[in-house]
Amino acid sequence: MTVAELAADRATRRAPVHTRALIIGTGFSGLGMAIALQRQGVDFLILEKADEVGGTWRDNSYPGCACDIPSHLYSFSFEPKPDWKHLFSYQDEIWDYLKGVTDKYGLRRYIVFNSLVDRGHWDDEEYRWHVFTVDGREYVAQFLISGAGALHIPSIPDIEGRDEFRGAAFHSAQWDHSVDLTGKRVAVIGTGASAIQIVPEIIDRVGQLQLYQRTPAWVVPRTNEELPERLRRALTNIPGLALALRTAIYWGQEALAYGMTKRPATLKIIEALAKWNIRRSVKDPELRRKLTPRYRIGCKRILNSSTYYRAVADPKTELITDRITRITPDGIVTADGTERRVDVIVFATGFHVTDSFTYVQIKGMHGEDLVDRWNREGLAAHRGITVADVPNLFFLLGPNTGLGHNSVVFMIESQIRYVAEAIAVCDRLGAQALAPTREAQDRFNAELQHKLARSVWNTGGCRSWYLDEHGNNRVLWGGYTWQYWAGTRSLKLGEYQFFGVGTGAAADRAALAVAE
Ligand code: NAP
Repeated sequence: MTVAELAADRATRRAPVHTRALIIGTGFSGLGMAIALQRQGVDFLILEKADEVGGTWRDNSYPGCACDIPSHLYSFSFEPKPDWKHLFSYQDEIWDYLKGVTDKYGLRRYIVFNSLVDRGHWDDEEYRWHVFTVDGREYVAQFLISGAGALHIPSIPDIEGRDEFRGAAFHSAQWDHSVDLTGKRVAVIGTGASAIQIVPEIIDRVGQLQLYQRTPAWVVPRTNEELPERLRRALTNIPGLALALRTAIYWGQEALAYGMTKRPATLKIIEALAKWNIRRSVKDPELRRKLTPRYRIGCKRILNSSTYYRAVADPKTELITDRITRITPDGIVTADGTERRVDVIVFATGFHVTDSFTYVQIKGMHGEDLVDRWNREGLAAHRGITVADVPNLFFLLGPNTGLGHNSVVFMIESQIRYVAEAIAVCDRLGAQALAPTREAQDRFNAELQHKLARSVWNTGGCRSWYLDEHGNNRVLWGGYTWQYWAGTRSLKLGEYQFFGVGTGAAADRAALAVAE
């Protein structure tokens, strides 16, 4: 029996399972964290809601699903894969990569699959987290690390009549591969990152495509031919070449942060490229007008495709910009009263992001409900990772650590190092727990929000899911990623409170360390 099987067995018998660190999720975050803890000799278990690893790269299997950041960068620095087939890898190859990493590090034995976390509370006396899955199993851990991310709860708009639709209907992240789209009338709702990959991929197959656009996206050209065999061999065999490519891609992406965070007006150059992308594929001036955004590029995620506009201009496609008012058993009705009959509806309508935290109940010190606090004060964490008055809770890709311009795996690795250090610091100081001080957390977030105030996300004239209902950006990091790396390179003891240090030498050591 593996560690995970033993744990699952014990939990099923309603006996709490104890471990030192409990990780949630097996995407890049959870797997990377597990590897770091393994290296550090910290016992851990991973709770995974599905029956396989992979996170977003397992869930999103829609046609054309690919990463819009080059894989030589969008992969673990400690597990390079020089022979990626494409620069912008497709879902299956990234998913295979994550499964390969899981097996290489022997992580499966620590993963309890089919375990969706429902709630967790911190016990002030025991200095332990008690975490419960929806099927009632209990896990007890000193450290709780969420690698759940914010893009995993599909958002399907609550359109009147949705449940009465007689045809197939599914979300882009829950693609129903049993539905054959050949010759069908297919409606795609949404024109975000997922939709612009789906549309060109299905256009040849479908009989008719209705594309429902609420806000047009900026889409820059991108080709993604298979990389030549010789280049892949060179990247594999010539020492340092793959690393040089990774570094070049990193700094190329990083350059975008200047325009996005400091001088949004400079992004006009990229707008010109995106406009050219429309012009070269779309001849109809009215269609061009509908497809051209009226906000600054970068305000929403900059998308890349050289085939999207061609598919929109295809005679089989109808771009519909009237608001959807109702779904009938056989079709979709828009505000102008038109009903269009449809066989299949694809909701490419994104995810619950700024409210994703409300799906798990978390209670910190003195039973304080974190969801209530965040609903009241807004989503905030210290350096996007730890939370004041909620000891030993860590978020990977937590508040304000998503990116609009570079690889999130870089952010994740910075955070993993930080969490591993936090655990090591507790051990070194003989402390049971740590949490950032309110002051440190508030200072960090005040500075961050101040920076974000002039970013393209706040000033670009669009309404995106990066912003909460008060217009505050709670999702993205507001600077260069190397600045984030520098800020998380070591845990500053003065920013933390320690708990359970006891008395005598250990307490003195902790007090001294914090004072220093
Ligand atoms: P998204 O970017 O949030 O796009 C959702 C789309 O659905 C938007 O066009 C939105 O319109 C529309 N929509 C939402 N509710 C609607 C409604 N009630 N009626 C009509 N339209 C509605 O979601 P996504 O495309 O799934 O992408 C989400 C994120 O996943 C991306 O930003 C990215 O971070 C990630 N992603 C990455 C890749 C990649 O290549 N790395 C690929 C796919 C996804 P509005 O713009 O008006 O809100």
